[in-house]
Amino acid sequence: MTDFKADFHCHTHISDGTLSPEALIDLAAEQQITHLAITDHDTTLGYELAQPFAEKRGINLISGTEISCQWQGHTIHVVGLDVDVENQKLQSGLKINRIKRWLRAFEMDIKAQKRFPSLLTSILPKLESGMIGRNHFAQALIEKGIVPDQQKAFDRFLKQGRSLYVPVNWPDITEVVDWIVSAGGIAVIAHPHIYKMSANKLNKMIETFKDAGGEAIEVVNQPRVCSEQIGMAERAKRFNLYASLGSDFHKPEHTWRGLGWLSQMPEGVDPVWNHFKQTV
Ligand code: AMP
Ligand code: MN
Ligand code: MN
Ligand code: MN
Repeated sequence: MTDFKADFHCHTHISDGTLSPEALIDLAAEQQITHLAITDHDTTLGYELAQPFAEKRGINLISGTEISCQWQGHTIHVVGLDVDVENQKLQSGLKINRIKRWLRAFEMDIKAQKRFPSLLTSILPKLESGMIGRNHFAQALIEKGIVPDQQKAFDRFLKQGRSLYVPVNWPDITEVVDWIVSAGGIAVIAHPHIYKMSANKLNKMIETFKDAGGEAIEVVNQPRVCSEQIGMAERAKRFNLYASLGSDFHKPEHTWRGLGWLSQMPEGVDPVWNHFKQTV
Protein backbone atom coordinates (compact mmCIF):
# COMPACT_ATOMS: atom_id res chain seq x y z
CA MET A 1 0.00 0.00 0.00
CA THR A 2 2.53 2.59 -1.17
CA ASP A 3 0.19 5.41 -2.12
CA PHE A 4 -1.94 5.46 1.06
CA LYS A 5 -2.51 9.00 2.34
CA ALA A 6 -5.23 9.67 4.88
CA ASP A 7 -6.89 12.52 6.78
CA PHE A 8 -9.73 11.61 9.13
CA HIS A 9 -10.63 15.02 10.58
CA CYS A 10 -11.64 18.05 8.52
CA HIS A 11 -14.48 20.48 7.96
CA THR A 12 -16.55 21.91 5.11
CA HIS A 13 -18.89 24.92 4.99
CA ILE A 14 -21.63 22.60 6.24
CA SER A 15 -20.11 23.33 9.64
CA ASP A 16 -17.42 25.94 10.30
CA GLY A 17 -15.05 25.29 7.40
CA THR A 18 -15.14 27.46 4.29
CA LEU A 19 -14.90 25.00 1.38
CA SER A 20 -17.95 23.32 -0.10
CA PRO A 21 -17.94 19.50 0.06
CA GLU A 22 -17.10 19.47 -3.66
CA ALA A 23 -14.20 21.91 -3.25
CA LEU A 24 -12.88 19.92 -0.29
CA ILE A 25 -12.84 16.75 -2.41
CA ASP A 26 -11.03 18.65 -5.18
CA LEU A 27 -8.42 19.76 -2.65
CA ALA A 28 -8.08 16.20 -1.31
CA ALA A 29 -7.49 14.95 -4.87
CA GLU A 30 -4.91 17.71 -5.42
CA GLN A 31 -3.17 16.61 -2.21
CA GLN A 32 -3.25 12.99 -3.41
CA ILE A 33 -5.26 11.91 -0.40
CA THR A 34 -6.57 8.38 -0.89
CA HIS A 35 -8.67 8.07 2.29
CA LEU A 36 -10.66 10.94 3.75
CA ALA A 37 -13.23 11.41 6.52
CA ILE A 38 -15.24 14.64 6.60
CA THR A 39 -16.07 15.37 10.22
CA ASP A 40 -18.31 18.44 10.34
CA HIS A 41 -19.44 19.56 13.80
CA ASP A 42 -22.66 17.85 14.93
CA THR A 43 -23.77 16.82 11.45
CA THR A 44 -23.06 14.12 8.86
CA LEU A 45 -24.32 16.25 5.98
CA GLY A 46 -20.84 17.30 4.83
CA TYR A 47 -19.95 13.64 4.29
CA GLU A 48 -23.26 12.90 2.59
CA LEU A 49 -22.97 15.77 0.12
CA ALA A 50 -19.31 14.99 -0.66
CA GLN A 51 -19.85 11.33 -1.47
CA PRO A 52 -20.69 11.63 -5.20
CA PHE A 53 -17.68 13.92 -5.74
CA ALA A 54 -15.38 11.53 -3.86
CA GLU A 55 -16.60 8.67 -6.00
CA LYS A 56 -15.89 10.66 -9.15
CA ARG A 57 -12.36 11.49 -8.00
CA GLY A 58 -11.59 7.96 -6.73
CA ILE A 59 -11.20 9.00 -3.09
CA ASN A 60 -12.28 6.56 -0.38
CA LEU A 61 -14.63 8.63 1.75
CA ILE A 62 -15.30 7.42 5.28
CA SER A 63 -18.41 8.77 7.00
CA GLY A 64 -17.77 11.08 9.91
CA THR A 65 -18.85 13.80 12.30
CA GLU A 66 -17.25 15.67 15.22
CA ILE A 67 -19.58 15.76 18.19
CA SER A 68 -19.45 18.24 21.08
CA CYS A 69 -19.87 16.70 24.52
CA GLN A 70 -18.70 17.21 28.08
CA TRP A 71 -16.77 15.44 30.77
CA GLN A 72 -16.46 16.89 34.28
CA GLY A 73 -17.19 20.40 33.04
CA HIS A 74 -14.73 20.28 30.11
CA THR A 75 -16.04 20.55 26.55
CA ILE A 76 -14.65 17.56 24.64
CA HIS A 77 -14.87 16.75 20.94
CA VAL A 78 -15.43 13.13 19.93
CA VAL A 79 -15.11 12.18 16.27
CA GLY A 80 -17.34 9.38 15.01
CA LEU A 81 -15.85 7.50 12.07
CA ASP A 82 -17.43 4.89 9.80
CA VAL A 83 -20.90 5.52 11.24
CA ASP A 84 -24.18 4.51 9.64
CA VAL A 85 -25.59 7.95 8.80
CA GLU A 86 -29.13 6.51 8.69
CA ASN A 87 -28.97 5.58 12.38
CA GLN A 88 -31.81 7.27 14.27
CA LYS A 89 -30.14 7.47 17.67
CA LEU A 90 -27.12 9.22 16.17
CA GLN A 91 -29.16 11.58 14.02
CA SER A 92 -31.51 12.56 16.88
CA GLY A 93 -28.52 13.28 19.10
CA LEU A 94 -26.86 15.39 16.42
CA LYS A 95 -30.10 17.29 15.84
CA ILE A 96 -30.39 18.13 19.56
CA ASN A 97 -26.78 19.37 19.55
CA ARG A 98 -27.56 21.60 16.57
CA ILE A 99 -30.63 23.00 18.36
CA LYS A 100 -28.45 23.74 21.41
CA ARG A 101 -26.12 25.59 19.04
CA TRP A 102 -29.05 27.73 17.84
CA LEU A 103 -30.17 28.53 21.38
CA ARG A 104 -26.59 29.58 22.16
CA ALA A 105 -26.38 31.65 18.96
CA PHE A 106 -29.47 33.68 19.92
CA GLU A 107 -28.10 34.26 23.42
CA MET A 108 -24.73 35.30 21.98
CA ASP A 109 -26.43 37.71 19.60
CA ILE A 110 -28.43 39.31 22.41
CA LYS A 111 -25.16 39.85 24.29
CA ALA A 112 -23.49 41.21 21.14
CA GLN A 113 -26.34 43.63 20.47
CA LYS A 114 -25.47 45.52 23.65
CA ARG A 115 -22.42 46.76 21.74
CA PHE A 116 -22.79 46.17 17.99
CA PRO A 117 -25.51 45.74 15.38
CA SER A 118 -26.80 42.14 15.32
CA LEU A 119 -24.11 39.67 14.25
CA LEU A 120 -26.71 36.99 13.46
CA THR A 121 -28.25 39.26 10.84
CA SER A 122 -25.02 39.20 8.89
CA ILE A 123 -24.38 35.47 9.53
CA LEU A 124 -27.77 34.13 8.42
CA PRO A 125 -27.81 35.02 4.69
CA LYS A 126 -24.53 33.15 4.16
CA LEU A 127 -25.14 30.18 6.43
CA GLU A 128 -25.07 26.90 4.52
CA SER A 129 -26.88 24.50 6.83
CA GLY A 130 -28.43 23.93 10.22
CA MET A 131 -25.14 24.17 12.07
CA ILE A 132 -24.03 27.43 13.66
CA GLY A 133 -20.87 27.84 15.69
CA ARG A 134 -18.56 30.36 17.24
CA ASN A 135 -16.51 30.53 14.03
CA HIS A 136 -19.51 32.11 12.28
CA PHE A 137 -19.53 34.82 14.95
CA ALA A 138 -15.76 35.22 14.53
CA GLN A 139 -16.28 35.78 10.80
CA ALA A 140 -19.04 38.36 11.44
CA LEU A 141 -16.78 40.22 13.90
CA ILE A 142 -14.04 40.30 11.24
CA GLU A 143 -16.41 41.49 8.50
CA LYS A 144 -17.68 44.31 10.72
CA GLY A 145 -14.09 45.42 11.28
CA ILE A 146 -14.33 44.77 15.01
CA VAL A 147 -11.39 42.33 15.04
CA PRO A 148 -8.66 41.67 12.44
CA ASP A 149 -8.71 37.86 12.55
CA GLN A 150 -10.24 34.70 13.99
CA GLN A 151 -7.72 34.36 16.79
CA LYS A 152 -8.46 37.90 18.02
CA ALA A 153 -12.20 37.19 17.79
CA PHE A 154 -11.80 34.24 20.16
CA ASP A 155 -9.31 35.96 22.43
CA ARG A 156 -11.37 39.13 22.79
CA PHE A 157 -14.98 37.92 22.58
CA LEU A 158 -15.66 34.24 22.06
CA LYS A 159 -13.57 32.12 24.38
CA GLN A 160 -14.63 31.14 27.88
CA GLY A 161 -14.63 34.15 30.18
CA ARG A 162 -15.12 36.70 27.37
CA SER A 163 -18.21 38.85 26.86
CA LEU A 164 -19.94 36.85 24.11
CA TYR A 165 -19.21 33.42 25.58
CA VAL A 166 -22.31 31.39 26.38
CA PRO A 167 -21.81 27.89 27.81
CA VAL A 168 -23.70 24.98 26.30
CA ASN A 169 -24.96 22.01 28.28
CA TRP A 170 -23.49 19.47 25.86
CA PRO A 171 -24.39 15.79 26.37
CA ASP A 172 -22.11 13.67 28.51
CA ILE A 173 -19.21 12.00 26.72
CA THR A 174 -20.61 8.54 27.55
CA GLU A 175 -23.88 9.39 25.82
CA VAL A 176 -22.14 10.61 22.67
CA VAL A 177 -19.95 7.51 22.52
CA ASP A 178 -23.16 5.46 22.76
CA TRP A 179 -24.66 7.29 19.73
CA ILE A 180 -21.55 6.48 17.69
CA VAL A 181 -21.36 2.86 18.81
CA SER A 182 -25.10 2.42 18.15
CA ALA A 183 -24.47 3.68 14.62
CA GLY A 184 -21.79 0.99 14.17
CA GLY A 185 -18.98 3.55 14.19
CA ILE A 186 -15.67 4.08 15.94
CA ALA A 187 -15.52 6.84 18.56
CA VAL A 188 -12.28 8.83 18.53
CA ILE A 189 -11.08 11.43 21.08
CA ALA A 190 -10.34 14.48 18.92
CA HIS A 191 -7.22 16.64 19.42
CA PRO A 192 -6.52 15.26 22.94
CA HIS A 193 -3.65 17.72 23.48
CA ILE A 194 -5.86 20.84 23.47
CA TYR A 195 -7.97 20.15 26.56
CA LYS A 196 -6.66 22.17 29.42
CA MET A 197 -6.33 19.34 31.93
CA SER A 198 -3.52 17.56 33.74
CA ALA A 199 -2.08 14.30 32.41
CA ASN A 200 -3.85 12.46 35.23
CA LYS A 201 -7.18 14.01 34.43
CA LEU A 202 -6.77 13.26 30.73
CA ASN A 203 -6.10 9.63 31.63
CA LYS A 204 -9.29 9.56 33.74
CA MET A 205 -11.25 11.01 30.84
CA ILE A 206 -9.82 8.34 28.53
CA GLU A 207 -10.86 5.62 31.01
CA THR A 208 -14.45 6.94 31.08
CA PHE A 209 -14.43 7.14 27.27
CA LYS A 210 -13.16 3.57 26.99
CA ASP A 211 -15.66 2.20 29.49
CA ALA A 212 -18.44 3.78 27.41
CA GLY A 213 -17.26 1.95 24.27
CA GLY A 214 -14.82 4.50 22.82
CA GLU A 215 -12.11 2.83 20.77
CA ALA A 216 -9.67 5.37 19.35
CA ILE A 217 -7.65 8.51 19.96
CA GLU A 218 -6.14 11.04 17.56
CA VAL A 219 -2.40 10.56 17.71
CA VAL A 220 -1.24 12.47 14.62
CA ASN A 221 -2.53 16.04 14.10
CA GLN A 222 0.49 17.80 12.66
CA PRO A 223 3.02 17.57 9.84
CA ARG A 224 5.91 17.20 12.26
CA VAL A 225 6.51 14.73 15.05
CA CYS A 226 6.08 16.61 18.33
CA SER A 227 6.08 15.78 22.03
CA GLU A 228 2.25 15.76 22.12
CA GLN A 229 2.18 13.13 19.39
CA ILE A 230 4.69 10.94 21.22
CA GLY A 231 2.62 11.27 24.40
CA MET A 232 -0.62 10.34 22.62
CA ALA A 233 1.00 7.34 20.91
CA GLU A 234 2.07 6.14 24.36
CA ARG A 235 -1.48 6.58 25.64
CA ALA A 236 -2.93 4.74 22.64
CA LYS A 237 -0.70 1.77 23.50
CA ARG A 238 -1.27 1.96 27.25
CA PHE A 239 -5.05 2.19 26.97
CA ASN A 240 -5.29 -0.17 24.03
CA LEU A 241 -6.91 2.41 21.75
CA TYR A 242 -6.68 2.54 17.96
CA ALA A 243 -4.68 5.49 16.67
CA SER A 244 -6.30 7.99 14.31
CA LEU A 245 -4.91 10.94 12.39
CA GLY A 246 -6.46 14.18 11.26
CA SER A 247 -5.45 17.73 10.39
CA ASP A 248 -8.67 19.43 11.61
CA PHE A 249 -8.50 21.43 8.36
CA HIS A 250 -11.04 24.30 8.24
CA LYS A 251 -9.92 26.72 5.52
CA PRO A 252 -7.07 27.25 3.05
CA GLU A 253 -6.31 30.64 4.68
CA HIS A 254 -4.94 28.73 7.69
CA THR A 255 -1.50 28.38 6.17
CA TRP A 256 -0.24 26.36 9.13
CA ARG A 257 -2.84 23.59 8.83
CA GLY A 258 -3.32 22.00 5.41
CA LEU A 259 -5.52 19.11 4.42
CA GLY A 260 -3.46 15.90 4.72
CA TRP A 261 -0.44 17.66 6.23
CA LEU A 262 0.30 14.88 8.63
CA SER A 263 3.37 13.00 9.72
CA GLN A 264 3.57 9.21 9.54
CA MET A 265 1.70 7.16 12.10
CA PRO A 266 4.27 6.17 14.74
CA GLU A 267 5.39 2.55 14.99
CA GLY A 268 3.75 0.24 17.48
CA VAL A 269 0.22 1.69 17.48
CA ASP A 270 -2.84 0.06 15.93
CA PRO A 271 -4.09 2.35 13.13
CA VAL A 272 -7.82 3.02 13.19
CA TRP A 273 -8.21 2.34 9.46
CA ASN A 274 -7.53 -1.38 10.07
CA HIS A 275 -10.88 -1.45 11.86
CA PHE A 276 -13.22 0.17 9.33
CA LYS A 277 -15.98 -2.06 7.99
CA GLN A 278 -14.65 -1.66 4.50
CA THR A 279 -11.10 -3.03 4.08
CA VAL A 280 -8.56 -0.25 3.66
P1 AMP B 1 -18.04 25.79 18.76
O1 AMP B 1 -18.09 24.27 18.64
O2 AMP B 1 -19.05 26.46 17.90
O3 AMP B 1 -18.08 26.24 20.18
O4 AMP B 1 -16.67 26.26 18.18
C1 AMP B 1 -15.52 25.49 18.31
C2 AMP B 1 -14.68 25.77 17.09
O5 AMP B 1 -14.16 27.08 17.17
C3 AMP B 1 -13.48 24.85 16.98
O6 AMP B 1 -13.79 23.72 16.23
C4 AMP B 1 -12.49 25.73 16.25
O7 AMP B 1 -12.79 25.69 14.86
C5 AMP B 1 -12.81 27.12 16.74
N1 AMP B 1 -12.03 27.57 17.92
C6 AMP B 1 -12.22 27.22 19.21
N2 AMP B 1 -11.36 27.86 20.03
C7 AMP B 1 -10.64 28.66 19.23
C8 AMP B 1 -9.59 29.60 19.48
N3 AMP B 1 -9.12 29.85 20.71
N4 AMP B 1 -9.06 30.23 18.41
C9 AMP B 1 -9.52 30.00 17.17
N5 AMP B 1 -10.50 29.14 16.89
C10 AMP B 1 -11.05 28.48 17.89
MN1 MN C 1 -14.38 23.98 14.04
MN1 MN D 1 -12.61 20.10 17.57
MN1 MN E 1 -12.54 19.72 14.08
